[in-house]
Amino acid sequence: MHSETSRENGEEPPSRSSLKQFKSAGRGFWSNVSDADWNDWHWQLKNRITTAEQLQRLMPTLTPEEFAGAKLANHKLALAITPYFFSLIDPADENCPIRWQVIPRIQETHTASWEMSDPCGEDSHSPVPGLVHRYPDRVLFLVTDRCASYCRYCTRSRLVSNATGYDFHPEFDKQIEYIAAHPEIRDVLLSGGDPLLFSDDKLETLLSRLRAIPHVEFLRIGTRIPIFLPQRITPALCAMLKKFHPLFISVHTNHPRELTTEVRDALGRLADAGIPLGNQSVLLRNVNDDAEIMKAHVQKLLMCRVKPYYLYQCDLITGSAHLRASVRKGLEVMEALRGHTSGYAVPTYVIDAPGGGGKIPISPEYVLSHDEDRVVVRNYEGKIFEYPEAADGTPLVEAPSEIEEPELCKC
Ligand code: SF4
Repeated sequence: MHSETSRENGEEPPSRSSLKQFKSAGRGFWSNVSDADWNDWHWQLKNRITTAEQLQRLMPTLTPEEFAGAKLANHKLALAITPYFFSLIDPADENCPIRWQVIPRIQETHTASWEMSDPCGEDSHSPVPGLVHRYPDRVLFLVTDRCASYCRYCTRSRLVSNATGYDFHPEFDKQIEYIAAHPEIRDVLLSGGDPLLFSDDKLETLLSRLRAIPHVEFLRIGTRIPIFLPQRITPALCAMLKKFHPLFISVHTNHPRELTTEVRDALGRLADAGIPLGNQSVLLRNVNDDAEIMKAHVQKLLMCRVKPYYLYQCDLITGSAHLRASVRKGLEVMEALRGHTSGYAVPTYVIDAPGGGGKIPISPEYVLSHDEDRVVVRNYEGKIFEYPEAADGTPLVEAPSEIEEPELCKC
């Protein structure tokens, strides 16, 4: 009743309006830990929750599906959650969006016939171990199979955490030699696993070797560390990274509750180092397949100086059906963003084509018809407009013989 009244008054219901507030994750069960330990990223990694028993002790509300999933998790994709990220889980809420992302469920062992262990066909596009060359001018450079915490829908779960014995061994020398021998590669994306788990020195050595290749114009790092482990974003790391511009970072967040004060500060340190930041989200059932949640998320990202970059339809990774939202939902979410909020806040919704076709943008239909004379389009309010089509290379109207000098723009 209260929420209906709020909506009638044009206000957001209380649970939704708080989504955009920045709050600390707090310390949960670790309130006795010293500041020095809590803020030390090595301490966070050393104290991760990695077993079903630990999980049950810390969260007695674990459901039978979750406990069974956690028991089996290390056969498919390891269970690991940093104390910091665990503190964001609401143990009283079975549908807590943080919980869905990192706590395994027994449904992970159910496999549909259309699911795959390598849904984006990365292995078949790898000329050398750890390098994926699928697009003409850029490569994906996998540096490690380790992450600070493991996302239950990870598209690379065949190799990440080595739970299935993939035995991933990148060969940096061969990866770098390949890039050096292919002048068409102007963009290198470091990913994994998470490159920011490397020590500053190790990462600096790798970035220096890539920067030394003359045709590499642009470096990128894909990371979820600022979200799982904001303590890792130290001033020393930022000072090192800023030596390698142009360097962009893509982070990965799915729900506005992940954007805490700790995360906002960590992202601010990266932005202050001059690093352009983008965000990649995965559309997940019970997490962000909701227009209001997604709108709060993208608006909050802008407040963190991060441009929402991609919204991915969840890949057809084995055992992820319980987390996949429909494309119909994704289109509904996009319809609720475009025009209804800043263009900067609107990500590109994509399907990474099953089997390795690359990212394909999908969007609600705004072009209603198009022929050689006109384009009929609709706007975000459903109003219809016509735009006269330009004949390629031929002016539609003859230019006057004397052209008046235009007034200079004063903006
Ligand atoms: S952080 Fe990225 S690579 Fe690691 S488990 Fe999550 S989605 Fe996979």
